[in-house]
Amino acid sequence: MQKQKGQIGVSTENIFPIIKKYLYSDHEIFLRELISNAVDATQKLKTLVSVGDFKGEMGDLNIQVKINEKKKTLSVIDRGVGMSAEEIDKFINQIAFSSANEFLEKYKNDANAIIGHFGMGFYSSFMVSKKVEIITKSYKEEATPVKWTCDGSPEFTIEEVKKEDRGTEIILHIDDDNKQFVDKKEIENLLKKYCRYLPIPIIFGKETEWKDGKEVDTEKDNIINETSPLWSRKPADLKDEDYKKFYQDLYPISEEPLFHIHLNVDYPFNLTGILYFPKIKNNIEVQKNKIQLYCNQVYVTDSVEGIVPEFLTLLHGVIDSPDIPLNVSRSYLQSDNNVKKISNHITKKVADRLEEIFKNDRKNYESKWDDLKLFIEYGMLTEDKFNERAMKFVLLKNTDNKYFTLDEYRDLMKSNQTDKDGNLIYLYGTNKEEQYGFIEAAKNKGYDVLLLDGHFDMHFVNHLEQKLEKIRCVRVDSAVPEKLIAKEEFQELKLTADQRENLISIFNSQMPELNKAHFIVTFEALSENDFPVMITQHEFMRRMKDMSALGGGMMSFYGELPDNYNLVVNGNHQHIVRIVEEVEKELGDKLSSIRSRIASLESRVKELEAAKKDKKEEEIPYSEKEELEDTNKKIEEQKSKKEEILKKFASEEKHVSQLIDLALLSNNMLKGEALNRFVKRSIELI
Ligand code: ADP
Ligand code: MG
Repeated sequence: MQKQKGQIGVSTENIFPIIKKYLYSDHEIFLRELISNAVDATQKLKTLVSVGDFKGEMGDLNIQVKINEKKKTLSVIDRGVGMSAEEIDKFINQIAFSSANEFLEKYKNDANAIIGHFGMGFYSSFMVSKKVEIITKSYKEEATPVKWTCDGSPEFTIEEVKKEDRGTEIILHIDDDNKQFVDKKEIENLLKKYCRYLPIPIIFGKETEWKDGKEVDTEKDNIINETSPLWSRKPADLKDEDYKKFYQDLYPISEEPLFHIHLNVDYPFNLTGILYFPKIKNNIEVQKNKIQLYCNQVYVTDSVEGIVPEFLTLLHGVIDSPDIPLNVSRSYLQSDNNVKKISNHITKKVADRLEEIFKNDRKNYESKWDDLKLFIEYGMLTEDKFNERAMKFVLLKNTDNKYFTLDEYRDLMKSNQTDKDGNLIYLYGTNKEEQYGFIEAAKNKGYDVLLLDGHFDMHFVNHLEQKLEKIRCVRVDSAVPEKLIAKEEFQELKLTADQRENLISIFNSQMPELNKAHFIVTFEALSENDFPVMITQHEFMRRMKDMSALGGGMMSFYGELPDNYNLVVNGNHQHIVRIVEEVEKELGDKLSSIRSRIASLESRVKELEAAKKDKKEEEIPYSEKEELEDTNKKIEEQKSKKEEILKKFASEEKHVSQLIDLALLSNNMLKGEALNRFVKRSIELI
């Protein structure tokens, strides 16, 4: 055969500059593409051998990667099927080129959205080379070895060469902008990234050892990859340790995972893989997107967004499927039918596995619940299908560290925590320390209190209320213990209206200024053993504020509102009774004379208003108008006089501030200067 020249069949005048600039950040994928081709060619040969179509010497079917730092070349050498001159013309000049061309056309604007840029194939080598040579000899008997050369213009040459071995050698003459690709360390890293689990051994130089303070090559080939990675093997042949070791290989510095799932499907799509449940506390973002996606053991990407539901991106491990279309954009992926099936399948398998562990090894499951909970709640909140399944194995943990399924908990609660309207009330705390007093008080009433302190628990509370019938979740500090679960009978409040009015003034006058907090004094007839004064926050308002803190939209409206609290005064407590009695003793006369003065002024106002009622504005005598105004003013004066007297009393009676501060303290609201004042006052009171 004479040396021949030819024109590559592309429309673009010069496709190479485009290829080079395009996918700029992903230049390194050329190596994966070339090695994938070498693997394909080798697998084809193996197939030919197995069906008896190739009878020659098979030899070692390794793939070699070599670099020459001086000549700036990188070679990929295989002993696969090779190509004849005609095949080069067909597969390289025409098909590969036109498919590269087509690829560029199709994805000019969408390049980065494409997973792993599969489909660029052989021509991606021009992203990093000024010249590419193919030296190849077909497996067919009497095949003529040929060399194809192309320097980056659409022109190529093809000629006969000498080549002993069957197979293909691709030689890249790396251009100056991409020198890193003839660097040993760099190539070794890339090979580890893309080729670590390829099914054919990849050899890169020799293994090294340290001799006389120097690193020297040994005789042994440096094999980069593990040709039968764990996920490609039968689960029956594997032990727990194997899975743990594989996890360590994938994520060298991670904590041991909780459980694993070995996936293995061959109909209606092909999928293998191993997924691990990692320990997840509140570090969600860090844990996301660690699943590695492979296509026939070729690494593609570690972002599985769009392929599995959001909550599953929290899992770790490997998914390998040739049925995930990899040369399409992410947005397209979600609507792909295969991808949908794969996604549903994985979700189902994950649920199966959790249910299995829950059923067969409840103790183990409970011991890992705290690390598993966030994942399961996330799934329940975002995927209906998973939610349906998880209703059976989601656990509730109470403040005594006991775990219950939803059904178990309902049965436990039914008799004691049903309110007068037939609603089951689930009491919960979000912080055992901060809400200690409230939790204890609820427990003393015989109630059970759940601990909901997780990342998604606030949403989860809403979720449970929607999904379960007739239940309501109430935080322990949203009402006094007696009122947490509304039952029929209540104790009677013995305070008179005047006494309540006095107490309101007294407590209001001593309330410290707290940023954005607003207190309303209310009364309850609690038992003598309950606290004298408590601070509660209405469940609804608190939830709305908490939600708004989590972010966004309509919710930010609630965020702007001040925090409204109830300062609940226990009318039956001896301290309160004592304050009431003291007020009576010390100020009784003064207050009653002010009250009767106000009463008579008010009745005069009524008379004047009544006289005014049927008259037109101009018919009302000036003196009456003046008197009305004057009387109203006098009422105000008397009222503030009363306030003043009570305020003076309250400020001298240190127990009022002390009671308020104690209530604030149990809610973690006493800070800074106010806390300091409290400490000093406490010392004085001792
Ligand atoms: P694809 O691998 O998707 O077919 P490529 O552009 O990577 O596309 O390769 C085009 C074709 O060139 C391959 O289908 C194959 O026929 C041929 N080819 C490439 N590399 C080799 C090789 N190392 N040995 C044999 N044939 C090869
Ligand atoms: Mg290819």
